Amino acid sequence: MIEVADATDIAVVMRFAAGHDHGVAVQLIGHGALEHTRPTLLVQTRFLDEVEIRDHTAWGGSGVRWETVLAAAAPLGLMPLAGSAPRVGVVGYLTGGGLSPIGRGYGFASDLVTAIDVVTGDGTILRATPSENTDLFWGLRGGKGALGIVSAVEFTLVDLPEFFGGCLYFSAADVADVTHR
Ligand SMILES: Cc1cc2nc3c(=O)[nH]c(=O)nc-3n(C[C@H](O)[C@H](O)[C@H](O)COP(=O)(O)OP(=O)(O)OC[C@H]3O[C@@H](n4cnc5c(N)ncnc54)[C@H](O)[C@@H]3O)c2cc1C
Repeated sequence: MIEVADATDIAVVMRFAAGHDHGVAVQLIGHGALEHTRPTLLVQTRFLDEVEIRDHTAWGGSGVRWETVLAAAAPLGLMPLAGSAPRVGVVGYLTGGGLSPIGRGYGFASDLVTAIDVVTGDGTILRATPSENTDLFWGLRGGKGALGIVSAVEFTLVDLPEFFGGCLYFSAADVADVTHR
C-alpha cells in the first residue's frame, strides 16, 4: 500500500506500475471489493483531506469523507448531495454516481460535479470538466476507479437551511402490530 500526499505522488505510482506491468487500485476506506490477478499497488488517499467552500462550490481532496463537507457546509445553510453514511468517502461515492436521501428532489450527486482532477494510467495529471477532457469527465462520474485515480473533486452545494429526517426502529416481535397500525 502506498500513501500519497498529492497528484504528483499518484502520477509516480502510475508510471512505476505501468513500467513494471503492475496493476493499480485505489482506496480511502475499503467499501469497494478489490480482487486482482496480478501484482497490484494499492494507493491510499487519506492524506488528501483538504476541503474548501466558496459560495455554493465545494472543493475536496480524495481523502475527504462526507462528514467533513457536511460540517463545513451546514453552518452556511448549504448541503452536499451526500449519501446516508457520513463516513463514506466523497470521491468513492461521486465516482459511483451517488444517490442521496434527498436525491429525488435534486438528482444524482455526480450531476453536481463541476471539475475532477485525475491521474490517468500513464501518469498524466488532467482536469476534467464539462468543457475540458469531456469524455473523461463523463466516464468518471459513474466509472469508479476504472479511468484513473481522482486526486480532487469540485461540486455544487444546494441551499438547505433546514432538514428534518430520521428513522423509526421496532422490535421484530412487534411486526404484526406495527404493520397493522
Ligand atoms: C454504510 C454505507 C452507506 C451508503 N449509503 C449510500 C447512499 O446513500 N448512496 C449511495 O449512492 N451510495 C451509498 N453507499 C455506497 C458508497 O457510495 C460506496 O460504497 C462508495 O464506493 C464508498 O467509497 P469509499 O471511499 O467509502 O470506499 P473505498 O473502498 O475507499 O472506495 C470504493 C471504490 O471507489 C473508487 N474510488 C475510491 N477513491 C477513488 C479515487 N480517488 N479515484 C478513483 N476512484 C476511487 C474505487 O473504485 C474504489 O474501489 C453507502 C456505503 C456504505 C458503506
